[in-house]
Amino acid sequence: MITVVGSINADVVLDVSRLPLPGETLIADSIDVHPGGKGANQAVAAARLGAAVAFIGAVGTDAYAATAVAGLREAGVDIDRVAVVPGPTGQAYVTVDGRTGENSIVVVSGANGHVNEALVRSHEDLLGRTDIVVLQGEISAEAIAAAAASSRTARLVLNLAPVIPLGHEVIRRADPLVVNEHEGRLVLNLLGRGADELGTEEDIVGALHAAGVPAVVMTLGAAGAIFSEGGPVFRAPAPAVSAVDTTGAGDAFVGALCARLSDGAPLGEAVRFAVRVGSFAVTRRGAQPSYPGPGDVLPEGAR
Ligand code: ADP
Repeated sequence: MITVVGSINADVVLDVSRLPLPGETLIADSIDVHPGGKGANQAVAAARLGAAVAFIGAVGTDAYAATAVAGLREAGVDIDRVAVVPGPTGQAYVTVDGRTGENSIVVVSGANGHVNEALVRSHEDLLGRTDIVVLQGEISAEAIAAAAASSRTARLVLNLAPVIPLGHEVIRRADPLVVNEHEGRLVLNLLGRGADELGTEEDIVGALHAAGVPAVVMTLGAAGAIFSEGGPVFRAPAPAVSAVDTTGAGDAFVGALCARLSDGAPLGEAVRFAVRVGSFAVTRRGAQPSYPGPGDVLPEGAR
């Protein structure tokens, strides 16, 4: 069983002909409101692919709370441990460039800011018997540390996005750490290592190992991903697809990775599958609405 400890948001998605410049006002072509948040997205992606998933997190008392949990509920995620706290639900304002699929995002933490050590510790029973615990950087470092401490026997999948200051011992338990190149460099800095001289993506993965991280997966957008468990660094190229909206592709990747790992797949097989799921997700709009279910055909081959 997979337990996600993380963020739940309502995503307000604005379609524009190009991303606004500083100080500029643009008229959006359309607006959509979807359930989102990195934690919720990853839980939904894993559950749609057949994994048993439980969620620890929080929503607020506003009208967005129902929207935010709707995706989790529809996907069959266990939401009994989603707390309701006074104040706003987490929200993300996503602007998507209609031509390139590129986005820019502003996040309001809202109820996700209430996911603290005490809340996480109150679910020690679940964390103590779960196989995989999935964590992201949209909840506090204290909550992440508590989740890691409460799940000593679980495999920790740490998607440190965004990168927030975290104790070295938590980062070194990541099996795997999932980051993009930019995040990989920031995690190296957290571990007290310089990253400026590292030229290639493989160099960053190697340096993370040298800093004590046992397994590393780095997503590379249209190029797919690379991964290593301490030996050589392998490539998992992405299929050639036409990207419509990259929002939540990284979360689709992490959810799919965890779904395969919870089936007992080796890391390499799980990464290759996750790349195809991520590439599927960019061909549809939104985050959770873009994730594949059992009836969907994933793209094949490499670009
Ligand atoms: P993040 O948004 O977290 O940085 P990435 O952009 O690396 O994540 O995307 C995660 C995964 O989504 C990639 O590994 C790949 O499988 C898929 N992906 C992202 N962008 C594209 C694209 N333009 N074409 C095909 N696949 C993509």
